[in-house]
Amino acid sequence: MLHLENCKICGTLFTSNGMFDICPYCKKQDDEVFERIREYLEQYPNSNILEVALNLDISVRRIKRYLRECRLQIVEKDNTFLLCKKCGQSIQSGEYCDSCIDNLYHDYKVAYKGRIVPVKEKFHYLPFINR
Ligand SMILES: [Zn+2]
Ligand SMILES: [Zn+2]
Repeated sequence: MLHLENCKICGTLFTSNGMFDICPYCKKQDDEVFERIREYLEQYPNSNILEVALNLDISVRRIKRYLRECRLQIVEKDNTFLLCKKCGQSIQSGEYCDSCIDNLYHDYKVAYKGRIVPVKEKFHYLPFINR
């Protein structure tokens, strides 16, 4: 379904198909920056976050976003840069550690166990405001 949405980066209204929360212009730029990082890392493997940020003039925040989006990953299992949003443990990419993902999934399975039936009669009650 197409709908209007504000771009998360530049704030412009754009027609979204629900796949991205950034506008086509920012998406294109974003992909280009990511491509630069990818090429840099091919040329200079074992670069760290700071080296990539400084040499490509990219903000550390942006690199962190790519890590959260699972487009990049930190080599060190034990880092203090990317932490699980739930328990704070070191992770290499994404938003949550493996055990929190398991738990979240389990929580959803429990939460979605409520059974559903169609509503027989629908009362649509709008309170009157008397002035
Ligand atoms: Zn934008
Ligand atoms: Zn966790």
